[in-house]
Amino acid sequence: MVNVALFGPPGAGKGTQSAFLIEKYNFFYISTGDLLRGEIKKETKLGLEAKQIIADGGLVSDEIIVQIIENTIKENPGANGFLFDGFPRTYVQAYILEGLMIKMHTALNCLISIELDESESVKRLLNRGKISGRLDDNELVIKNRLKEYQEKTLPVLNFYKEKGNYKALKGNQTVEKVNSEIESIINKEFSKELVNIVLFGYPGSGRSSQGIALAKKYGLEYVATGKMLEEEVNNKTKIGLKIQNLYDNGELVPDEIVIQLIEKKIENSKDIKGFIFKGFPRTLVQSYILDGILQKHGTTISKIIEIEVDTLTLIRRLNKRSLTPGCMPYDSSTEKIVKRLEEHKLKTIPVIQKYKEVHDVAVINGEGDFETVFSRIAFVVEDKLKNFA
Ligand code: AMP
Repeated sequence: MVNVALFGPPGAGKGTQSAFLIEKYNFFYISTGDLLRGEIKKETKLGLEAKQIIADGGLVSDEIIVQIIENTIKENPGANGFLFDGFPRTYVQAYILEGLMIKMHTALNCLISIELDESESVKRLLNRGKISGRLDDNELVIKNRLKEYQEKTLPVLNFYKEKGNYKALKGNQTVEKVNSEIESIINKEFSKELVNIVLFGYPGSGRSSQGIALAKKYGLEYVATGKMLEEEVNNKTKIGLKIQNLYDNGELVPDEIVIQLIEKKIENSKDIKGFIFKGFPRTLVQSYILDGILQKHGTTISKIIEIEVDTLTLIRRLNKRSLTPGCMPYDSSTEKIVKRLEEHKLKTIPVIQKYKEVHDVAVINGEGDFETVFSRIAFVVEDKLKNFA
């Protein structure tokens, strides 16, 4: 996820550039100006409060801005990130944005400032006023808007200069040149981002084989907690011996151990594009753990994929596998297979349901041969990877 704020005086071209960026990067766009105009049009309480202030070229109160933003961003609906236009406009709003990003388990990558002289700004706004129909694009109000910009908005830059995520470019160039400079900043941010995919599906849906093949093809690290636990046991590591002890006593492996293994995997993974998680999170508790681990490493879930296969096919596949040398101890009898399917339904389906409320989950038809299913999943993965260099 890459989150960007476009900054600049009125008339710098933030709206024009935003339109290109939404199209190219599939951003969730938040223009506080547009949102306020929408509230005014709908004659809501907030709109009525903001109307006169906007008409006079003043800045609407930070309280109103928080409310319209809260009303807009419920959760991220599968976008590649947020694009803010006209926000933050005050020092207080810079803090509001920080808090908002934390709430969304993410962070602002950079604030891109489009610099423009005051005289050019006035000229552009007067021209825009002839066609935009915006009441605040007239000489008197423009003067006020620029005064507000100088006094209240420019100090916002210091916030980001101090944080080290401030980028600037000249706004008095062609629209295309400004666009290409902005895109090169954003592309660089995407290239630093990890693409994290969570693969869901019932046992027997093909998660492992598909996950391994996807990881190989797209330079992702495959994180399968079941396999990782098994390796620790086989290698008789310190953690492995602890796990063996738990197995011998018929106890479940506690989440603390799984956390340690995932942390170790993430820290040891270098030069990768991201991770594919399989078999984790398995419970609601683990879904919080994953959010926490990713956030600690400055990243988030990029895409959730659920492979859907009919129950009868699942049983048929698991039963077939149980007759081969690849049979896992937990698949060795019909009773065990059914128990595993039940366990998934009980504990993991609620996790997918939770994710469906806040993420754009891609549901893939898992019926058919390996290549057919792989190409369906690859289509989704490539769409996600396209902006990540
Ligand atoms: P814009 O479309 O961004 O030029 O915004 C038009 C007007 O809406 C501004 O002149 C302000 O009166 C108001 N406005 C927009 N965004 C904000 C904000 N973040 N904080 C305060 N006022 C805002």
